[in-house]
Amino acid sequence: MIIVGGAAAGYTAAVYAARAELEPLLIEGFQWGGQLQNTTDVENYPGFPEGIMGPELMQKFREQAERFGTRFITDDATRIELSDGGIHSVWVGDDEYRARAVILAMGAEPKRLGIPGEMELGGRGVSTCGVCDGAFFKGEKVAVIGGGDSAMEDSIFVSKFADDLTIVHRRDEFRASKIMEERARDRDNITVKTPYVPEEFVAGDDGKLAKVRLRRADTGETEELAVGGAFVAIGHTPRSELVEGQVDIDDGGYVTTEGKSTRTNLAGVFAVGDLVDHTYRQAVTAAGTGTMGALDAEWYLRDLPPSPEAHWFGKSGDAQPDPAEVRAG
Ligand code: NAP
Repeated sequence: MIIVGGAAAGYTAAVYAARAELEPLLIEGFQWGGQLQNTTDVENYPGFPEGIMGPELMQKFREQAERFGTRFITDDATRIELSDGGIHSVWVGDDEYRARAVILAMGAEPKRLGIPGEMELGGRGVSTCGVCDGAFFKGEKVAVIGGGDSAMEDSIFVSKFADDLTIVHRRDEFRASKIMEERARDRDNITVKTPYVPEEFVAGDDGKLAKVRLRRADTGETEELAVGGAFVAIGHTPRSELVEGQVDIDDGGYVTTEGKSTRTNLAGVFAVGDLVDHTYRQAVTAAGTGTMGALDAEWYLRDLPPSPEAHWFGKSGDAQPDPAEVRAG
């Protein structure tokens, strides 16, 4: 079994697959750990009542997968060739790996505005996840950028903590569903500011976010909004580019799965985590679907005869790598 993507979903799939003695190969990516790698305190992952830092949580996930014999490639998959019920190939540069079952767990990336201060102030006031970070802004003045359901949901959640919240959207109309828009507008401490485009996040003397510079989309006038927190909620981009045109994908680029399972339209190909999830996008939900993916794949493989064509190193004739060497990354 090959798992592509080393974050909450992929590592959890690896724990289950390794404990089922499927010896999974996890192509975890050069920058493994996913979105939690860029997160500070995680206070909503069950089992850590005091909270845990995002990178530390991912390290623990990884160690648990390793403990049961997962083999790791700490590099990016560069090409994926999927079959329908046959052997699937995943390349890392020139090296080809083959397996009868593949779990796609490449995740999604929050879209960025691409403006000055956005990356620099990540974790110091600028966030892409209201549900994760909202509680850190108790009593503060904050902004939420975006006009879709994510922006409305973040606003409703964060406004429980922040004193004053401004939704900044680039058009006068919202893309969000009417009900979500109304729920946000109905809250006393939420103000809507349109049509404005953020141009820069500016730090104060303490190095934390102090204000957002805004430009009015129709007149071009600029103004500043003093805030201690800003949530960029302008959508996500699922990392499905390597499987596009092979497996069924919806209009948003998310891989689609059958019913409540992780099965894709191709036999032996499973998809889990934020790569399939429009809605919840939490570490714990990603981990949950990772479990489902491993079980679906295990049940699929159980019914197949063993295949000599599925190797770790698919270049025929190559010896199997020393697991200890592979594990060392
Ligand atoms: P979305 O619907 O694509 O909305 C993204 C918003 O961000 C749009 O209002 C867009 O403006 C704005 N935006 C995009 N790029 C921007 C930029 N560079 N600068 C400024 N603004 C920018 O994304 P989403 O809100 O994440 O929702 C994605 C999907 O998940 C939707 O189908 C949604 O219904 C679903 N969802 C549902 C729930 C729920 O039901 N509880 C919660 C979250 C998400 P324009 O409108 O001008 O393009």
